[in-house]
Amino acid sequence: MILQIQPNFPCENCIKCGKRPHVEQHKEKWTVACPDKNCKNQVKSTIADFTTWNRLNKKATTITVDKKSEKLKQTA
Ligand SMILES: [Zn+2]
Repeated sequence: MILQIQPNFPCENCIKCGKRPHVEQHKEKWTVACPDKNCKNQVKSTIADFTTWNRLNKKATTITVDKKSEKLKQTA
C-alpha cells in the first residue's frame, strides 16, 4: 500500500531526482521511498523513518559552504 505524504509535512525531497517521497506499508514494514524506482532511494524500518530519510537526503550544499568558509578563515 502506497501512502501519499501530506504536502504540509516537512520532509526532504529525493536527493537524486528531487521528487517528494511517499510511504509504502507492507504489514509491519514501513518504507519511505522515492516514487522513481530508478533512484533505489528508500529507508526501510518498522516505522516511517523520516529522520533517517531527511538525514540521507539533505542537500550537501550547506556542508560545502561550511567548508569553504572554514578555508577562508584559515587563510585570513
Ligand atoms: Zn528519486
